[in-house]
Amino acid sequence: MSVVLSSIRWYLDVIREAQLADYGPVRGTMVIRPYGYALWERLQSWLDAALKEHGVQNAYFPQLIPMSFFEREAEHVEGFAPELAIVTRGGGKELEEPLALRPTSETIINSMFAKWVQSHRDLPMRLNQWANVHRWEMRTRPFVRTLEFMWQEGHTAHATPEEARAEAMAMLEVYREFAVTQAAMPVIAGRKSRIEQFAGANATFTIEAMMRDGRALQAGTTHDLGDNFSRAFGTQFSDAGGRLRHAHQASFGMSTRMVGGVVMSHGDDTGLRLPPRMAPLQADVGTEKSPGWKFSHWEMKGVPLRIEIGPRDVASGTCAIARRDRPGKEGKEFGVPLAPELLVQEVLKRLDEVQAELLERATRFRDEHILDVSSHSQFLEVIEQGKWARGWWAGSDEQEVALKEESGATLRCFPLEQPGGGGTCFLTGKPADQVALFAKAY
Ligand code: AMP
Repeated sequence: MSVVLSSIRWYLDVIREAQLADYGPVRGTMVIRPYGYALWERLQSWLDAALKEHGVQNAYFPQLIPMSFFEREAEHVEGFAPELAIVTRGGGKELEEPLALRPTSETIINSMFAKWVQSHRDLPMRLNQWANVHRWEMRTRPFVRTLEFMWQEGHTAHATPEEARAEAMAMLEVYREFAVTQAAMPVIAGRKSRIEQFAGANATFTIEAMMRDGRALQAGTTHDLGDNFSRAFGTQFSDAGGRLRHAHQASFGMSTRMVGGVVMSHGDDTGLRLPPRMAPLQADVGTEKSPGWKFSHWEMKGVPLRIEIGPRDVASGTCAIARRDRPGKEGKEFGVPLAPELLVQEVLKRLDEVQAELLERATRFRDEHILDVSSHSQFLEVIEQGKWARGWWAGSDEQEVALKEESGATLRCFPLEQPGGGGTCFLTGKPADQVALFAKAY
């Protein structure tokens, strides 16, 4: 059985057995069960606080968007048209204008920004909504890619192109921080190629995570939209000198995909392994005499610690603490005092250790699976091995597409951290001024 096939089976088994999600009646939709939703809530509460700290306010916009809105921005409609779900009837009648279920909200939000942004004093404007969106995807998989998913989408308006770009970069840093410090996912931040960028953006930035089967997962994206949407919708402000100018904008989104990312970054043969800061339950207490079934239930659910208290432990006033991330004796410590305050201290200390070690392990794994390439044949070899290829790149859009067709790997990003200087493109032999990362992706 191929690694990919076995990893897909593993993933679907874990999603089912840990009761994270179930399939919805419509192909490609999913029901998020309480345990899966609790993981999403962890993400929500951290990210919501981080966005507010950055001056972003929450708001809510309608899910139904007039089709004509999409047609105003040529690249946007071209990119999103194939994925739109469209409502044509309502109240028992054919609608005068078809309405799309939002796949993203740049258009409808700009229709309101056009009213709300008048003067340079109204800027910057920073809004976010927590919402569901619909994208009619062909290949689907619970959490990772579903027809309907939940996310936050931030939308901002600024006076200058530099501020819009800075906003996209600042939000990328927020996503990176969440991934690394909470989800223990050592992501690589970078810029997307023209081929892979958001339809209607001047530039798209991404955090790319490596799953344990070596595949890449785009875990969050931020966009520098320039004035593309403000021109399409007439979002203009008068500057200090009284001249009318178009606003410059950024947008950014992170979705329920991230839950799938946590599962595939840390899971093992026994099931989920949750980083303590994401885990709905940090520790379970095992008091049964022969607790085999109980252990495997909580192990499957990825609970980071297990506190075992048997009758002999009670007599001696101690207990044992077992770590989910280190199976067997290696991760078990006996003789931990049962006194409540001491025990809490011991538990907190170990939760920090588990959090740090999951990140370390994932970082080591990632670094071992990224290889530098300097020729086309080396590139194909590395991709064939299921690893990521990093190399100097000066290829054209067409060459990027051809390479994808040949190898199945896509250009994941031009990492923000570059070696500096220049090199020779591994494909064309031309001088190149940046390295790119390529991988097979979800
Ligand atoms: P985008 O607006 O296309 O940049 O999407 C923002 C983020 O949402 C992406 O970076 C993905 O992580 C996530 N995402 C995109 N499409 C889906 C989908 N069909 N299901 C779940 N998450 C998605």
